[in-house]
Amino acid sequence: MKNRLFVMSAASGAGKTTLKDKVIHKFPDIRYSISATTRSPRPGEVNGVHYFFKTKDEFLKMIQEDALVEWNEVHGNYYGTPKSFVEETLAKGERVLFDMDVFGKVNFDKVYPEATGILILPPSPEELERRLRTRASDSEEVIRLRLENAKKEIEFAQTNGKYEHVIVNDDLETAALELERILSQQN
Ligand code: 5GP
Repeated sequence: MKNRLFVMSAASGAGKTTLKDKVIHKFPDIRYSISATTRSPRPGEVNGVHYFFKTKDEFLKMIQEDALVEWNEVHGNYYGTPKSFVEETLAKGERVLFDMDVFGKVNFDKVYPEATGILILPPSPEELERRLRTRASDSEEVIRLRLENAKKEIEFAQTNGKYEHVIVNDDLETAALELERILSQQN
């Protein structure tokens, strides 16, 4: 089961989504797990492509029905990994890439301890703030909350997390090559 499940975690603004989008098409046998969330779609985000957008009641029902491998409240919204997709994809012999916050990853590890953890870090706290501000889709309050959380998440990941790989996303091309190298490992 080694190298079949890859979990990417990062504080928001570390550039994880850009990095993933740049690399994943090179791996036709890797599926990207689409999470469920109660957060509102950002401009351009499509239900069933970027996330499954749920109401709080719908999300709580998924928890009750044990339909999630793991879930967590991140920045005031719920996020979780649907179980059925992981099981079906593994049954087909394909591999899966997940995007998950550092606390959710700890719960994920209880179910899939063999998963490979990849932690994406911003080059510096200042650069993280600059990236969060240039995204401009979030309010000042949300940006401040994300910056505060980023510090806690990075500390937690480095002390309690299980991440076999750490990528500092300074130069996108270099970081993408590093991610490609990790995903290329087949056993
Ligand atoms: P965003 O709102 O920026 O898309 O994501 C916010 C955070 O939620 C990120 O740290 C991301 O990794 C995390 N996240 C996305 N999907 C999941 C999931 O299925 N489970 C958990 N625990 N976190 C998730």
